[in-house]
Amino acid sequence: MTEPIHKVPNRRGTRIAHIGIAVRAMDDLLPFYRDILGMPLVPLDDADGATIAGVAAGESLVELLEANSDDSPIGKFVAKRGPGIHHVCFAVDDLDDTLSRCRAAGLRLIDETPRIGAEGKRIAFLHPTATGGVLVELSEY
Ligand code: ZN
Repeated sequence: MTEPIHKVPNRRGTRIAHIGIAVRAMDDLLPFYRDILGMPLVPLDDADGATIAGVAAGESLVELLEANSDDSPIGKFVAKRGPGIHHVCFAVDDLDDTLSRCRAAGLRLIDETPRIGAEGKRIAFLHPTATGGVLVELSEY
């Protein structure tokens, strides 16, 4: 049997790219993921005033976010809400198309245009008021 020719090639579908977890200190939580769950470390760049440690969960990541200063986004988040899940990042097939659809739907964006995130990929954040209180990051594959 052959694949139907109308099937769009190279579209992988939206997936969870990573979950961002705010920590007070990296050593509070990194040993749990790395040593107890045995998740491999993935080198990531610092971003948005945070030091970021990545651990691989299959094709997805857990990103531990430690604020470099109290007035950074993660510093403010931890001061207000304590450590915990900060955001969920979805990798999408076409980031620009997806952002256009968000804009057309009237969703509030934090990033009007994509910028480079911790994995060196283009990303954009949506405002949590647009997505049921969950801070959503969109990323290109
Ligand atoms: Zn992220």
